[in-house]
Amino acid sequence: MTAIQINSVEKSYKGFKALKGVSLAIEEGEFFGLLGPNGAGKTTLISTIAGLIRPDVGSVKIHGHDVVTDFREARKRLGVVPQELVFDPFFTVRETLRLQSGYYGIKNNDAWIDEVMHNLDLTNKADVNMRALSGGMKRRVLVAQALVHKPPVIVLDEPTAGVDVELRQTLWKFIARLNREGHTVVLTTHYLEEAQAMCQRVAMLKLGQVVALDTMSALLRRVSGSQLVVHLS
Ligand code: ATP
Repeated sequence: MTAIQINSVEKSYKGFKALKGVSLAIEEGEFFGLLGPNGAGKTTLISTIAGLIRPDVGSVKIHGHDVVTDFREARKRLGVVPQELVFDPFFTVRETLRLQSGYYGIKNNDAWIDEVMHNLDLTNKADVNMRALSGGMKRRVLVAQALVHKPPVIVLDEPTAGVDVELRQTLWKFIARLNREGHTVVLTTHYLEEAQAMCQRVAMLKLGQVVALDTMSALLRRVSGSQLVVHLS
């Protein structure tokens, strides 16, 4: 089954075309990477997949549910890790995750919340207020928040940008495990090593268009490594 079906999506901001007709089919269980330089349109595409931005033209479906016309059903199947760290500062980590569970109408979610916190090395911060956490810890909570409803499809916008090596390893390990367990994963990244290590297929975005779509290894064979780094920087 197709996990995410993106059909001819176009999006403009005040006349500036950020996405110029993007089509992609991401299959269930895939680990898919979205690469591209700053301003390529990655965040706009992720926000469109998440149903946070309406495309001007085209559509996005999650497991067959349109993210605009069937938002609730689409969103139930989707976990989104955005770039910005936005939380209520006065809730603890556990309360934040319970609150998020509540948004999805899930009661008695503590066993799963404990497991997610454990996998993200958050257990000893469970009762700490969000405002007292470091940026890296907040990023872990952001990932945990996206997983409270056990979504089959997980979309992450630069989850490892600006985080230290230890956290990057923790996140990679956990996300890889989720993928092995059957979750579809899409992430945007600037780290070539990350895409190489994690992604089965990648799409390269440039100026709002998909300019390459292939397996990571085939892409590296076609484009020399140094050129690719220039693309990503
Ligand atoms: P980065 O790697 O820097 O996060 P990106 O590939 O995620 O970049 P987007 O953030 O999707 O790129 O931006 C694509 C283009 O759309 C950029 O030129 C950006 O300036 C523009 N853009 C994005 N959001 C807005 C907005 N709200 N209003 C106006 N222009 C925007």
